[in-house]
Amino acid sequence: MANEQLKQDIIEYSKTIGIDKIGFAAANPFSEMKARLKAQQDAGYQSGFEKGTIEERTEPELHLTEAESIIAIAIAYPSKMRERVKNERGKRRGTFCRASWGTDYHYVVREKLEMLETYIASRVPGFRSKIMVDTGELADKAVAERAGIGWSAKNTLIITPEFGSYVYLGEMITNLPFPADEEVEDGCGDCTLCIDLCPTGALVAPGRLNAQMCLAYQTQTKGFLPDQFRKKIGNHLYGFDNCQVVCPKNRGIDSHLHPELEPDPELVKPELIPLLSISNREFKEKFGNMAGSWRGKKPIQRNAIIALANYKEESAVDELIRLMNDDPRPVIRGTAAWAIGKIGRSDSYQAIRTAMETETDPEVIEEMEKGLRFEQVAT
Ligand code: SF4
Repeated sequence: MANEQLKQDIIEYSKTIGIDKIGFAAANPFSEMKARLKAQQDAGYQSGFEKGTIEERTEPELHLTEAESIIAIAIAYPSKMRERVKNERGKRRGTFCRASWGTDYHYVVREKLEMLETYIASRVPGFRSKIMVDTGELADKAVAERAGIGWSAKNTLIITPEFGSYVYLGEMITNLPFPADEEVEDGCGDCTLCIDLCPTGALVAPGRLNAQMCLAYQTQTKGFLPDQFRKKIGNHLYGFDNCQVVCPKNRGIDSHLHPELEPDPELVKPELIPLLSISNREFKEKFGNMAGSWRGKKPIQRNAIIALANYKEESAVDELIRLMNDDPRPVIRGTAAWAIGKIGRSDSYQAIRTAMETETDPEVIEEMEKGLRFEQVAT
């Protein structure tokens, strides 16, 4: 078979550069995916963050005309922090999901793929390739499934037998034919825990996600967070790991194989109140290297305000009043007004009424009205 020895050499090399799993697949179109993606689109279940057209997501040849095979890789990340930080009244903390721990995985995975690319290019004249990590259009889970990295699970993630679903995926389309690896057998069996325990019912069927209902997606939007999700996001600033945490295939799995993916507790569980007044520059310096900062500061601040409301953190009220009065962003003013009402410090409702006299944005006024309704409930 073509390039059998080269494949073995690539596998050996991949181990020396910290690639935790590698698989090879033919670069045929992912025809079976097309209908599924179309159905998702028609049902309105997409997040809007998807890249490219359905054809671009399923046809490797659109990215590399001579596509013969795809090399898929997985990099394992930790599920537990080695150091803990206290989350106490007066100094409440928010949380970034595991996929945002350490250095932004896009860089980490891309760097490994580039090393692999350089290695193969040094071995094969005329080698051509195209690297993709999440931001590429090709559906990386479908590639990983075909290349035998893991099975496509009911929670819509790829689960590897070795590292569970705590893996980052990346792939490289190449113009070389390689012997293909076998797919991993489905390991979900009769289990439906992720579906049963999803707090919003976002997993509408095995392997089918309504992204609009997914809390991980909702933490990344820039507008007002719909009321139905505000309590449910708890203290989550970015992402939501529930469907990974409840999965029995992840039980006991905690891979600490890459120092650059180790979480800094002060970054991944930051104090909430200082986040409310952080400048753009400080935000970039502090969080700019994390995957969870890709949507900028506003969604993180909005979620921090909601988290403080969920904690009923009275020490945040003065800062929230300042935001309600002075912040130029309606989403922040309005969410702050709602949070002030929800926290319910007795002297704070008057602040909402006063701000309402000069507020002109109808959405902010609506949030102020919601905030004042908590007073009626309390009395
Ligand atoms: Fe599969 Fe159960 Fe894990 Fe869901 S919780 S992904 S059904 S094994």
